[in-house]
Amino acid sequence: MARIAVLGSGPAGFTAALYLSRANLPPLMFEGVEPGGQLTTTTDVDNFPGFPEGLMGPELMERMKAQCARFGTTFSADTIESVDLSKRPFVLKPAYGEAQEFDAIIIATGASARYLGLDNEKRLLGHGVSACATCDGFFFQQQEVAVVGGGDTAMEEATFLTKFASKVTLIHRRKDLRASKIMQDRARANNRIEFLLEHKVVDVLGEDSVTGIRVQNTVTGEERDIALTGLFLGIGHTPNTQPFGGQIDTDKSGYINCKPGSSYTSVPGVFAAGDVQDSEYRQAITAAGSGCMAALDCERWLEDQE
Ligand code: NDP
Repeated sequence: MARIAVLGSGPAGFTAALYLSRANLPPLMFEGVEPGGQLTTTTDVDNFPGFPEGLMGPELMERMKAQCARFGTTFSADTIESVDLSKRPFVLKPAYGEAQEFDAIIIATGASARYLGLDNEKRLLGHGVSACATCDGFFFQQQEVAVVGGGDTAMEEATFLTKFASKVTLIHRRKDLRASKIMQDRARANNRIEFLLEHKVVDVLGEDSVTGIRVQNTVTGEERDIALTGLFLGIGHTPNTQPFGGQIDTDKSGYINCKPGSSYTSVPGVFAAGDVQDSEYRQAITAAGSGCMAALDCERWLEDQE
């Protein structure tokens, strides 16, 4: 029986599981509702060190899983629905299987990008629709793209995308932006960014890849089409902390608070890694690094208990 549960199967979860397995503490990984995590929604990954030709997001995750399996990690396709962190061993209740007890838990459940909820947006995800400019911006050299959102993420993504795209249309549903003044000023000073305020995206056009979007004026209701090849969502992320609600310290947006420079959460024996505790960097490689930290912290903590 595994003593440790790793919740989540993104780069943070797999790296934690790999380190634990190689320390003779092979965990049980609950893969969650999106096995492989957010990287499975992207195509080419060119910024993960060690793969000079790049590789596909889903393939990277399959490789991580195989590496964990090689050293003894076991996997459950289930997702954790509720937890009792009030006493040890901790009790985890999966959606389908029986409740199980664990001495320690690594939470690596990630964050989910928010989407608009349009059918064609979902269909064209990874084919012109993206929620990560850092991951996918490079593929839009000299092309026209749009970014949706009025917060700091949208400003940052729009500004970043002007390194590649010939034009970036920033679409926001209201007249006023939510972003901080400094980020707004930077975006407004960039002559490749055009602001389309008081508009929302109502459809994404294209068969195999994005060829345009349909926008609607939120004041007049008037609709029109814009030809472009990329649509980036910058409308925020939601950390996947629902099952832990109230039992662990989070910030006001729901991200788990870790003790600075570590993966220790407010509950001894519960560690957090990856995007569930990081609203700032959100990269596969930073998630992997924090997964390693969580495994080392967890291993040392268990040793101290014995
Ligand atoms: P925010 O919640 O700040 O902004 C989300 C934006 O998306 C809002 O403008 C919102 O519109 C819009 N939006 C939400 N849902 C929809 C929808 N369904 N359709 C259309 N528009 C929608 O999220 P961010 O990710 O921008 O920022 C999160 C936090 O991270 C903030 O505290 C931010 O300051 C911080 N951050 C800091 C950065 C930096 O300093 N470098 C970079 C990125 C983020 P509306 O305004 O109408 O609600």
